[in-house]
Amino acid sequence: MSVPAVADVVVIGAGPAGSAAATTLAKAGRSVVVIDKAVFPRDKCCGDGLTTLALRELEQLGFQPSMVPTWKSVDSAWIRSPSGREVQLPLPKDGIFAATAPRRELDAALVGIAAEAGATVRDGCAFESIRQTPTGVEVDVAGSGTIEARYVIAADGMWSPTRKALGAGEPGYLGEWHAFRQYGRNVTGPAAERLYVWFEPEILPGYAWSFPLPNGRVNVGFGVQRDGIRKVQDMKQQWSQLLARPHIVEALGADFELEDRHTAWPIPCRIDRATLTDGRVCFVGDAAMAADTMTGEGIGQALLTGRLAAEAMLGGGALDAETVTRRYRSTVRHHLVADHKMSAVLGKVLARGRGARGAIRILDTNDWVQRNFARWMFEDEPRAIAFTPSRWHRDFLRRPGPYRAST
Ligand SMILES: Cc1cc2nc3c(=O)[nH]c(=O)nc-3n(C[C@H](O)[C@H](O)[C@H](O)COP(=O)(O)OP(=O)(O)OC[C@H]3O[C@@H](n4cnc5c(N)ncnc54)[C@H](O)[C@@H]3O)c2cc1C
Repeated sequence: MSVPAVADVVVIGAGPAGSAAATTLAKAGRSVVVIDKAVFPRDKCCGDGLTTLALRELEQLGFQPSMVPTWKSVDSAWIRSPSGREVQLPLPKDGIFAATAPRRELDAALVGIAAEAGATVRDGCAFESIRQTPTGVEVDVAGSGTIEARYVIAADGMWSPTRKALGAGEPGYLGEWHAFRQYGRNVTGPAAERLYVWFEPEILPGYAWSFPLPNGRVNVGFGVQRDGIRKVQDMKQQWSQLLARPHIVEALGADFELEDRHTAWPIPCRIDRATLTDGRVCFVGDAAMAADTMTGEGIGQALLTGRLAAEAMLGGGALDAETVTRRYRSTVRHHLVADHKMSAVLGKVLARGRGARGAIRILDTNDWVQRNFARWMFEDEPRAIAFTPSRWHRDFLRRPGPYRAST
């Protein structure tokens, strides 16, 4: 399939980051071409969990939960400490503060929204190479032609071929987290309805999860922070051992069955040190290493950075690349870097058995902390908001959740 020869912006990659960028630009009347090497609907190895941050961004894009056939809203989180203490963290009821949505369905819906907004979407079209000129960018698409554009948004994920083609890649970089996930069915235990996070002693720093889906299905998995010592091979063995734990068997029920095979993928979490721009190219989402370093969640950050890159391009004047890229770097710093540093500190506390046990013991003793911790954990407010007065607002922890009308 051939691609248009000219566009204002080429978006490389149609995951949440690319779709958010394309939708924002197309809604503002810019001509946008989105290319993705995959054909949608396509799967993405993920826990499928949506934080409040992700839900607020999705609502702004015009996404509706009814666009995902197997959507599941979640009203609390169940956390278990390494010593076995379990605590339920309720979420407010005026809106949706957490949900699960299989990426196969979510990402296809987002691509549909971008196309509806006016973006030209070419799936099954892989990025091949890029050339920057004094006035624009030329992108070669494998077997489909060349697109000339003013700007490129590189939303091409953890391994970002655009970053490599520009020589901005870091050889040997494998991400800060590595995570496994698998779908399962016939859940007869409480995990059919509950979102579980299990801090198991031998996978610290890291955690296992079970996120509920409709009809007795779940997304189960575990992620660990890379420490240079743990091997992916060892993680494969840990997977079946984890699923045999009595409390996990009890949560999933005796009839639980795994579907297909497990998949694994790295998660990049170093937004404070990542290359955010290169000439007329802005990197977003995993390509900007934007996932949360405490939890490994990155859909909200992908949607946010995609929107911020698009907004920088909309406000930067016709050809002033320096203004556009400076604005993007500055808004990313404003929205994410302090939170990243806070997450890194908290991640160190949770990395140790004693820290995780202590944190969950505090949660178990105080109703106010329980209610608000879940909101904060799901990024309803930025992690470091207490330390960044420029982001304070009157409705701190009082805003209704996204999709209030549908709850
Ligand atoms: C096991 C696991 C569990 C996770 N769980 C969660 C969770 O529960 N919640 C959460 O918020 N985050 C989670 N994450 C993180 C989350 O999946 C990512 O942060 C998120 O997908 C980033 O979105 P993105 O749009 O930047 O990139 P992606 O979703 O990776 O999209 C990149 C796109 O680029 C395309 N692409 C790649 N190469 C090319 C090329 N050469 N040409 C054209 N297109 C190309 C790909 O086909 C893909 O569609 C998890 C990650 C893992 C690995």
